[in-house]
Amino acid sequence: MSAKRDYYEVLGVARDAQAKELKKAYRQLALKNHPDRNPGDKQAEARFKEAAEAYEVLSNDDKRSMYDRFGHDGLRGAGYQGFSGGVDDIFSAFGDMFSDLFGFSGGGRRRGGGNGPARGSDLRYDLVVDFEAAAFGSTEEVTIHRDEDCATCSGTGGKPGSQPEQCTTCGGRGEVIQQQSFLQIRTACPSCRGAGQRYAETCQDCHGRKRVQKARELSVTVPPGVDDSMQLRLTGEGEPGARGGPPGDLYVVLRVQPHEIFERHDDDVICQLDLSVAQAALGDEMTVPTLDGEKSVTIPAGTRTGNLLRIKGQGIPNVRSGERGDQVMQAFVDTPRSLTDRQKELLREFAEIDGAKVKEQAGLGSLRRFLSRLAGNE
Ligand SMILES: [Zn+2]
Ligand SMILES: [Zn+2]
Repeated sequence: MSAKRDYYEVLGVARDAQAKELKKAYRQLALKNHPDRNPGDKQAEARFKEAAEAYEVLSNDDKRSMYDRFGHDGLRGAGYQGFSGGVDDIFSAFGDMFSDLFGFSGGGRRRGGGNGPARGSDLRYDLVVDFEAAAFGSTEEVTIHRDEDCATCSGTGGKPGSQPEQCTTCGGRGEVIQQQSFLQIRTACPSCRGAGQRYAETCQDCHGRKRVQKARELSVTVPPGVDDSMQLRLTGEGEPGARGGPPGDLYVVLRVQPHEIFERHDDDVICQLDLSVAQAALGDEMTVPTLDGEKSVTIPAGTRTGNLLRIKGQGIPNVRSGERGDQVMQAFVDTPRSLTDRQKELLREFAEIDGAKVKEQAGLGSLRRFLSRLAGNE
């Protein structure tokens, strides 16, 4: 195993360097050895990783004190393996430090710069579909607004018939070097946007943007069984690529509307089934709504609130297998509130046959009895 360089030496800082100095030193090294600026240079990449490792250790108080006392071995003893990840891992760890310089977003590398082909952007569209459409599938017409090549100038950005001239700002190179204190940063030329050439007179329709926003009608096939927040990917329906690059994709995010009666749980639909005391006690034959219209069901005698009744295959088709879930109905026995004298009489009679002592102030009486039974007084 080759000897590792001292972390302070790697960053070129004193052993008592403060956090600010460490950060500054690391930034300089990272910019100098950045893989984007040194394509194919293995040595620069090694230096870039070495600096990231040194910074990772020295910017962490615990690791730094371990390193100060025991050197590289101290860190190994503490389970630190060194910075083994690739360049992109370094960006995810320290990307924030460079965001102001390179325009990274999060850990991602800059893309689409320069003059090469670039893939078009992905687009997202939120599509509201009703419950039945999601259950059984549908075709929805949507209008997408996306950037497309300007037809007037054929995507050149120049006035039709005019010829481009070399950009004077960058001398045709397409990029410029900006000086920030003593750092040099290479960026796309702001005058020609990296193209290296520009038109004296720009296209009147796109004003030199080369692209115009167009509304496009698309037909989206919603497969049966989709659920809320599922995404459909329409390959190649995103924004067109630049300079011959492929188009991006369109992601359609489904927003399934709630149903009046049913609630969805996986592939089952759930609803509440209201039963009268008599229906619940004696059982009944009744019609209930389903996703396919009314269906007749048998209520077994002695059904209680909370009991589940299931109608097989009346749920939602599974989005992959197509097999349908069930309709699950939760029984709810509705206690009558306004009774006629005759109904009261019958219920009292029922209660007497049942052997229970029903007092005139019914509700509270039975509660008292229940409580005293709980207390062991009966
Ligand atoms: Zn330029
Ligand atoms: Zn144009």
